Amino acid sequence: MTVYDLHCHSTASDGTLTPAALVTRAIRRGVDCLAITDHDDVSGLPEAHQASADTSLRIINGVELSSLWERRTIHIVGLFFDTGSSVLQEALATVRAARRQRAEAIGHALARAGIGGALEGARRFVTNEALISRSHFARFLVDRGYVSSKQKAFNHYLGQGKPAHVPPPWPAISESIAVLHAAGGMAVLAHPGRYPLTGTAMRRLLEEFRGNGGDALEVFSPSHTPQQSERFIEYARFYGFKASLGSDFHDPGESHIDLGALPPLPAGLTPVWSAFLPI
Ligand code: AMP
Ligand code: MN
Ligand code: MN
Ligand code: MN
Repeated sequence: MTVYDLHCHSTASDGTLTPAALVTRAIRRGVDCLAITDHDDVSGLPEAHQASADTSLRIINGVELSSLWERRTIHIVGLFFDTGSSVLQEALATVRAARRQRAEAIGHALARAGIGGALEGARRFVTNEALISRSHFARFLVDRGYVSSKQKAFNHYLGQGKPAHVPPPWPAISESIAVLHAAGGMAVLAHPGRYPLTGTAMRRLLEEFRGNGGDALEVFSPSHTPQQSERFIEYARFYGFKASLGSDFHDPGESHIDLGALPPLPAGLTPVWSAFLPI
């Protein structure tokens, strides 16, 4: 059986393994098909393609686009696009510039909360000069002993409603979907169970995602309980979405599950890769 993992992060965003190290780990873990989906950046993909040449592993172009819906952050995983698309490259550059501005604002907010030098501190964890994320602030806060875990850094400082939360400057989901389609790719709603939405709001999101041409739901994710996975399998059937799955792996110590540690997609759902890969 072919093992797919279509969501993980490298040092091109907030993962701690290089693209080449992810390739090695994925092969060791028995993965056949891996999408590297860095936040708002595709610069890790050439290294991954190069490292996987002449191996059993197939690398799929991926990205995780920070997006907004009803003022909430929604992540859209893009797959199978052409990295040479200028529409895509320009959209990513715009978001990364917005990330730099947000990082400055987070640094100021942490200073007001009594934590100085946070921007400089977070920058020491940055592995791609073009991409700074809250993960880098979280690692700084853990490293300095302000909190005992990355999760607590979000719970106490960086998360919604906390002292260093800065309104996210992302494009609307409609724009992210359009950019991915312009680049020849598919748009997947990432870890839908992670968004704190009522049932009504979730159905509104799913309808709007579909209305804007969204292609698939990520039904298996470490963010989901088994009940949530069941629910999104049902929603995929009901709304006619294709299905995807991913470990969202970031780091061997931080991540809940390892590369490829996902159940196979249930029968009756169309895999997001159906038009691109042999099943
Ligand atoms: P950003 O895209 O810069 O807002 O950062 C979001 C990233 O922070 C996510 O992709 C996760 O890697 C990480 N993250 C967000 N919320 C949490 C949380 N509650 N616990 C641990 N990591 C989180
Ligand atoms: Mn991340
Ligand atoms: Mn995400
Ligand atoms: Mn992710």
